[in-house]
Order: sequence, then C-alpha cells, then structure tokens
Amino acid sequence: MTAPIGSTRRDVVERYETGTPRSAALFERAVRVLPGGSTRTTIYTDPYPPYIERGHGATLVDVDGNAYLDFLGNYTSLILGHAHPEVVAAVEEQVRRGSAFAAPTRLEVELAEEIHARVPAIERLRFTNSGTEATMFALRLARAHTGRDVIAKFAGAYHGTHDLAMTGSPGVPERLGGLVVELPFNDLAGVERAVAGREPEIAAIIIEPIQGVAGMIPAEPAFLAGLRDYTRRHGILLVFDEVIAFRVAPGGAQGRYGVDPDLTALGKIIGGGYPVGAFGGRAEIMDRLDARRPGALVHGGTFNGNPVTAAAGLATLRHLTPARYERLAELGDRLRDGLAAGFAREGLDARVTGVASLFQVHLGSGADAGSIATGRSGGDAATVAAARATARRFYLSMLVGGFFLAPRGMGALMTPMAEPDVDGFVLAAVGAARAALDGATPR
Ligand code: PMP
Repeated sequence: MTAPIGSTRRDVVERYETGTPRSAALFERAVRVLPGGSTRTTIYTDPYPPYIERGHGATLVDVDGNAYLDFLGNYTSLILGHAHPEVVAAVEEQVRRGSAFAAPTRLEVELAEEIHARVPAIERLRFTNSGTEATMFALRLARAHTGRDVIAKFAGAYHGTHDLAMTGSPGVPERLGGLVVELPFNDLAGVERAVAGREPEIAAIIIEPIQGVAGMIPAEPAFLAGLRDYTRRHGILLVFDEVIAFRVAPGGAQGRYGVDPDLTALGKIIGGGYPVGAFGGRAEIMDRLDARRPGALVHGGTFNGNPVTAAAGLATLRHLTPARYERLAELGDRLRDGLAAGFAREGLDARVTGVASLFQVHLGSGADAGSIATGRSGGDAATVAAARATARRFYLSMLVGGFFLAPRGMGALMTPMAEPDVDGFVLAAVGAARAALDGATPR
C-alpha cells in the first residue's frame, strides 16, 4: 500500500525528510511567496507538509511518489474519497457547461432540496463558499432576528476564522470579546451560570453537536435536549455548527440526536470535495434574507451556489444511502475499539474519542486536543508544548508508515475504506503512539 520511507530505525524526522526531497524543494519555494510557506494554518506541519500529486479513492500520492492511506479526507470533507467516479462525472458534465454564472442554476435548487429533505429543521437555506461564512452569517442573522448583540459559544469550539469566532486572537478588536460569552461543554448548569443575568442580551448559542477541533467530543443527548429547552425559554436562538458533524448520519447530528436547532451551519461534505458552506433553518428567520422584502439582510458572494460545487455535492449526497452511513459507523467503531484495546494492552496513556466515521487520538493526559491545535487554554505553555511535540512525533510516525491524518491526531473514514485499512491503521497507530509517548524512535 505504501512505499516505505527509509527502512532503518533512524529518527522519524530524518526518515520523513529522506523520503520527501521534492516536497522539501516545493516548501523552499513556498516560503518565498507564502508566509511560513503555507496558505492554510491548519495544514502546516513541521518540518514541512508532503505536497500531494494526486488522490484516488482512499489513497494519496505525494510528489515523491509516497503513497498514504488518507484518514483525513481534507478535514472530513471527502466522505466518498478522492475522485469518486460519480462525483467526477457530475463535475465534468458541469464544467463543460460553464463554471459560474451571475444567475442561479437548477443544481443549487436540487442541492437545497436534498438537504431540506434530510434535515427538516432546515426549512430554507443559503449557500456560501466556506464553513466560516456559514457560521458568520448564521450568527449575524440570529442578531438581526432577535435584536440582541451577544453570542455564546463553547470552550474549545471552532467555528471558522471570522472575528466573532476568533475573539482573543491578534487583530480581533478586544472589545468584541465583550459580545461573546464562553460556555462549558456538556454542562447545562454551567451554561445557566455563565449566562445568568445576561439572558435577554444573548442572540444565539452556537454549538458543535460533536466538538471537532476540541477533540471529537460528542455532546450528551440530554445536554442538547436541555440546551434546546433553555434557549427556547429565553428567546435565544440555538445554532448547530454541523460543518463536520453533518457526516455522522443522513440527517446529520441533529437527526441522530433528535434535537432541532433554529439555525444550522453546514460545509465540507455537502460540496462533495469542492469549496462550500451553507446556513439554514426556520423559514421565519431565514426569510430575513428574502430580497423581495424591504430591509432584507444582504448576503452576496460571487461563487455562492456554484454549479460545479452543487453538482459534486448532489452526487455525493445521493450516493450516501443510509446503508453507507451504517457501514462507515461500523468501521468507525472497529477503529475506536481496536485503538482502545491496543492502548490498554500496551499500557499507554492514550485514548480515542469520536462518533460514527469521526475520531481523535489523544496522547498523554497533559493537554487536550483543542489546546494542541490552537495553543489556547487546556494547560500551561510547557504542557501544551510537550503535548504538541508528542502529537508531532505521532503524526510523523504515521506519515512515514503510510497513514495520513491531521497533525493533531484527528481523522475521518471514507467509503472506499474497508476492514484491512482500519486494522492496518490501528496496528500502526498503537506502535506510533507507544513511540511518541516514549519519545523514542518507532520500530
Ligand atoms: N465549523 C467547524 C465545526 C469546522 O470544523 C470548520 C472547519 N474545519 C469550520 C466551521 C470552518 O469551515 P471552513 O474551513 O470551510 O471555513
């Protein structure tokens, strides 16, 4: 499955560098024109990422000819794998007809209908180009609808990179922090305490029903149900960020947990691997965007509802039958059970979380995945730095072993995978975890 990079017990970084000279050369060129050689903070890895030549099914091939089984799928968005024949056919058909028009197409209507049919709480929706825009507009709409300015979000949450989602970051005005309340996840009493006295100011509570960057941690069903009651009682809109979580079931996380939010943000799989986002929800709220109404909210976007994306998204969702979701969830259980058993057998300070096709490997109990990813909260700087170093050793060990996942240990399964792929991953991951936690070289 993979061309092994090096064959001795040399240090994992050296093995990686020896096997990837063309990636190194591209990175050297990149640093001259892209800050840090990168155009996407989340995919930079030290010493440099592998540059990908092509992807097919569950396999990636880099510019040096190394093959990797892709356990990330562009951060969970490629649920059918790379260059799926049905997606390629749909895209090819559309690109021949043109790539984008300043006018709507049948495809955007069909994709909207498909999403609405799966998610009844999404009575109307709007397409965007990214998950960032989806949560940004959902929150703006919530403020417009309620006439309130404050939003509440959960510790460790990731909702993209717009200002309200990134309070506390350089460049985001400090006073914007006054418009955001931070809440504890899976703790309803804690939510009520954090908001106490400010309920009438809060436009929306936004939540990932399965926290992604924070470590693939699912909300407890009773917590979500309690949050639904609580928000309704106080006239606060409940916004689900299902940019990642939507892939767990045909109706997304809200279908799986049986809780209807007021608004939902989507992205990733609904674009079939092409740039996308969407936000939708109750008609009464969404119709504030209806341009036929005086004073409607403006929501532009040169590529909104792009027909190539819509064609790929439709082909993807149509391929995803309930049986295929079940199959992915079974493989996910196999992966999580296998890792948990392996970690226990080896006596490692490691665990795995996740739901259905989503998972996160956690190494060491010092810092959480969210702090490894963002460097914020979850322990002092030295603990976070040590946890990062462990995560990096694990990531590079997996890479030289032919497995691609997020540098912080997060991953997702795709439909072209089968049991041997999962079992191979488990075997490699237990060995890589042992080596990373020891600070030793993997065998
Ligand atoms: N929300 C969540 C939960 C996400 O995981 C992400 C991206 N990983 C986003 C929003 C932002 O999506 P995008 O990268 O498409 O802007």
